[in-house]
Amino acid sequence: MSTTPPETLSVDEKSVACDGGNGSLGHPRVYLTMGDADSITCPYCDRTYVLKDSAAAQKLVQEETAVKA
Ligand SMILES: [Zn+2]
Repeated sequence: MSTTPPETLSVDEKSVACDGGNGSLGHPRVYLTMGDADSITCPYCDRTYVLKDSAAAQKLVQEETAVKA
């Protein structure tokens, strides 16, 4: 019953390791591979990893800018 929006993190590689960070959302470390996509969401903590400089990352930046404006 959390209303906290999932984090979105930009990464340099298509393979990432996620352990949920050090907070209450922590979980055993898992390795995620984006494959043909340029983003992937961790099934444990719902963090989304977006490949840096990808179209998805550019879109994310635009959305964040729009929210702040
Ligand atoms: Zn995770």
